[in-house]
This record gives sequence, structure tokens and C-alpha cells, in this order.
Amino acid sequence: MTACLFCRIVTGEVPAQVVREGDRTLAFRDVNPQAPTHVLVVPKAHHADVAALTDADPALLADVLAAAVAVARDEGLDGGFRLVSNTGADGGQTVGHLHVHVLGGRAMGWPPG
Ligand code: AMP
Repeated sequence: MTACLFCRIVTGEVPAQVVREGDRTLAFRDVNPQAPTHVLVVPKAHHADVAALTDADPALLADVLAAAVAVARDEGLDGGFRLVSNTGADGGQTVGHLHVHVLGGRAMGWPPG
């Protein structure tokens, strides 16, 4: 059994509210939403972060981004949305399986808090 939380969501071992599934990606709602729409998009294969995936499989990174845009469209985020991929400790990453946050449904401030 893998210890990686998002790998366990990919296998279905840990339940999640899945909103979109592709051959190589999965999108599910964040359990602690920071906006009216807050969805996480992950590659099904384990990659630690965006830097690791850039090196290992840039085509898969493109699939993850395309899935994130598809989620934003499905969610009706016509006014805009934010994609975030926290990377490493200083980036605020808390789960070590690459994920892109899709945030929308309200105006996003800048800089982020
Ligand atoms: P990050 O801090 O960028 O690594 O983001 C990790 C995100 O995963 C946080 O927004 C958490 O709320 C979210 N999260 C943690 N556990 C779960 C879970 N079981 N299902 C869905 N989202 C989760």
C-alpha cells in the first residue's frame, strides 16, 4: 500500500468527489475549499511536483493543464480562474504528489495571502 494520499485517491482506496477523469489524469474537489470552485487536478502516475514532472514527462504536464482548463470550463468559470501548483516547502506544498489547484467563482486577490 502506498503512503501517498493522492495515489490512494487515484486507486479509489481513499474516497474523493471526482469531477473529471482522463486516461492519465484525475480531478477531484478539494476537501478544504478556498473558493466556491476548488478542484485539484493530478496525474494518475506519481510525480512529486511540477518540477519533477517537467523533467520526467512534459507531455503529461500538458495533459494536467488541459484537464485543469476543462474543469474550469465545466464549472462555468467564465469570469476567469486561477491555476496554482505549490512546489516544495517554501511554495507551501503539503501533499507530495503534483496537483494543480483550479480556483474560481470569486475574484482572486493578488498577492495571495
Ligand atoms: P498543497 O498545500 O498545495 O499541497 O495542497 C494540498 C491540498 O490538498 C489542500 O488544499 C488540501 O485541502 C487538499 N486535500 C488534503 N487531503 C485531501 C483529500 N483527502 N481530498 C481532497 N483534497 C485534499
